[in-house]
Amino acid sequence: MRKTLSHRFKIGAKGATGRCLAGTLTLDSGKDVNIVTVYFPCYNDSISYSNELSECLSFLEDTLSNGLLSVILGDTNFPCDVNNEGFKHCYNALSRYSVFHCDEFINSNGNCVTYCNYSLKHSSFLDHVFVSIAIRQDIVSAELHDTGLNLSDHIPIIYTFQWSLNCSTKRTAAQTKVKQYSWRWDKSDLNFYYQCSNHNLNLVNIPAILNCDINCNDSSHFDSINMYYENIVAALHCAASTAVHRIPVQYT
Ligand SMILES: [Zn+2]
Repeated sequence: MRKTLSHRFKIGAKGATGRCLAGTLTLDSGKDVNIVTVYFPCYNDSISYSNELSECLSFLEDTLSNGLLSVILGDTNFPCDVNNEGFKHCYNALSRYSVFHCDEFINSNGNCVTYCNYSLKHSSFLDHVFVSIAIRQDIVSAELHDTGLNLSDHIPIIYTFQWSLNCSTKRTAAQTKVKQYSWRWDKSDLNFYYQCSNHNLNLVNIPAILNCDINCNDSSHFDSINMYYENIVAALHCAASTAVHRIPVQYT
């Protein structure tokens, strides 16, 4: 998940065997979408395969039961082929929630390969995206993203949705370069500064603290003294801003 989307994505439940992770993405429209990543077990005809797959599918059903539109994606370890037992189970579970695979968006002349193991000479279409039927119209494109930078034996697939997601975050102090200035007292009219500071200091209220001495513990006195101090600093700062030249400092 991109950092710029972190404020839009809420991580939800995790499957017991660690094969599934759910979350919700909030679109600009305010609509929430379930996003579920999956890594299904490798297909075989053992009991443990069907147990593990069932665990994944019931996790998906739990997630989909919140009624939100959904995108499920990842390594399902099966081709979306009705003759495959794994796919059949998955289809039976997800179709009840109107969630279907969208392999056909990938333009590959029916010859899509997302898993390629050169040493084992295996290649197959094992990675898929499943979406709610109402989301299909939002898919703009789908493509394999096979680059030399990818060291995995799986090839990433990229689906683009026409969703509005404003990623801008508030600029933080760390991101904003603070401009530094240097006061040039030597190039300023000091008489003007004295006039300004005299004027500003005359406007500062002197706290009316009677019966106060060095051992005083009265918190209202502390507050008044702090306020008095801050007003004096502000008065002097304001006078300097008015009368003293500043030049930006360049740090390299
Ligand atoms: Zn006091």
